[in-house]
Amino acid sequence: MPRVAASTPAREAGGTMGRVSDREQDLQATRVVIIGGGPGGYEAALVARRLGADVTIVEQSGLGGSAVLTDVVPSKTLIATAEWMTIADRAPELGIRTTGEPVGDAARHRIDMAAVNTRVHSLAAAQSADIRARLEREGVRVLLGHGRLDGPTRVLVTTQEDEVELPADVVLVATGATPRELPEAAPDGERILTWTQLYGLRSLPERLIVVGSGVTGAEFAGAYVSLGADVVLVSSRDRVLPGEDADAAELLEGIFTERGMTVLSRSRATGARRTADGVEVTLQDGRVLEGSHVLMAVGSVPSTQGVGLEEAGVRLTPSGHVHVDKVSRTSVRGIYAAGDCTGVLPLASVAATQGRTAMAHALGDAVSPMRLSGVAANIFTAPEIATVGASEVQLAEQGVPYAVDILPLARNPRAKMLGVRHGFVKIFAHATSGQVLGAVVVGPRASESIFPLALAVTHRLTVDQVADIATVYPSMSGTIAEVARMLHRSAEE
Ligand SMILES: Cc1cc2nc3c(=O)[nH]c(=O)nc-3n(C[C@H](O)[C@H](O)[C@H](O)COP(=O)(O)OP(=O)(O)OC[C@H]3O[C@@H](n4cnc5c(N)ncnc54)[C@H](O)[C@@H]3O)c2cc1C
Repeated sequence: MPRVAASTPAREAGGTMGRVSDREQDLQATRVVIIGGGPGGYEAALVARRLGADVTIVEQSGLGGSAVLTDVVPSKTLIATAEWMTIADRAPELGIRTTGEPVGDAARHRIDMAAVNTRVHSLAAAQSADIRARLEREGVRVLLGHGRLDGPTRVLVTTQEDEVELPADVVLVATGATPRELPEAAPDGERILTWTQLYGLRSLPERLIVVGSGVTGAEFAGAYVSLGADVVLVSSRDRVLPGEDADAAELLEGIFTERGMTVLSRSRATGARRTADGVEVTLQDGRVLEGSHVLMAVGSVPSTQGVGLEEAGVRLTPSGHVHVDKVSRTSVRGIYAAGDCTGVLPLASVAATQGRTAMAHALGDAVSPMRLSGVAANIFTAPEIATVGASEVQLAEQGVPYAVDILPLARNPRAKMLGVRHGFVKIFAHATSGQVLGAVVVGPRASESIFPLALAVTHRLTVDQVADIATVYPSMSGTIAEVARMLHRSAEE
């Protein structure tokens, strides 16, 4: 295989960044090589170009990374269909009748799984193409191939044709993670599936066994039950979503059961095998579950092997993640890391922030260290569960004096009009200062409603400042202000 040294990429690629300033002139010689084209990598590439560096991004699968091709975009596109089905369930209550068919007939809407998955694939492919086009427009050189460090200042890229050497002043490792596979339940891509293989299904699974009740397991189990599949959720813990707010997890588990899902708690799956026309999943206590398909959602492993990290002196944690500080530096000068390969918090938004922070630090721009307290996270079940700031467990563990109040959405006038029965807003505030420390919103589009509370946590607003805002009447956000008002009273008592 021939080796070729890459020439200066960005200027050749014809960037559209406008006139080159003095500062940019200084940085022109700074060669940045990014391994991994997910949110951690591509957001960093854009920042580095904006700061005037020569930037090459190396990606082995497709731009946008797992986030766009197998994880966030496909799962949320599937969930959009599932959400529509959940909303349609409320139609009879809202006075909607389907002509010629009996009211309340659950089979009124039928899922065309092939059409759903075709849509999933085309949306993901379009998003990936958009990201690639944007990067190239901005003057980032895109190299398709497998990248690995050859010491701290060189990246070797194996492309389909040859091996390319990229000298680098700054390297960002943003290689992400892949689904964890159990040897006793090795995925075959047809019946025993990881989440990356689900979108190959052409028909709705008759009986889907989901192993793992963390965020990924809960999202897919919830989506498939809404799409009309028979779903069994196997959880090794006491309840679904261990580690999340207990009220939210309990509410969701109740709704799952109400929708017909079988939730098996304290049940550890030890293996899965194919049968003539389906799968068998064995549990630790000897029970055997039969299904048509099994989804193994048992966590991820960081993609940090075969990248030359340890050989270059980069320290890994015992779990195999790259050890980074708050500005994304690794243990080796000039090598930074961002996203799921660092294990800081596996969210696309965090990966992107880490990547941007790394480039700002490496290229001498103003940089603020990564703060996780204001990061909002969402679980895309129906209802959605959005959280920000400290959890109740964390506050109790840290001995922080706090007050908490909660209101069900069922009392909210807008919720009543929309036929929304499930959900709540819960806020934690410092017992004496009233500062908002954390919040949980459970409800339809909780991912949108959490934003004012993320602002409050990030900018250290008090419950009084939140309560002072006049909310639209009627609106779901009215409940946020109402809970903040209740906390004002709690503080006075
Ligand atoms: C099912 C699911 C749903 C999710 N939903 C959400 C959500 O709704 N919201 C959210 O914020 N987060 C969500 N996440 C998490 C989110 O997907 C990740 O946090 C995010 O993808 C991390 O971005 P990244 O850039 O670190 O890695 P990735 O997106 O994994 O990208 C890494 C890229 O690096 C490439 N790569 C790896 N090694 C090499 C190499 N040696 N050479 C070249 N290229 C390489 C890979 O091909 C990949 O494309 C979800 C995760 C899963 C599993």
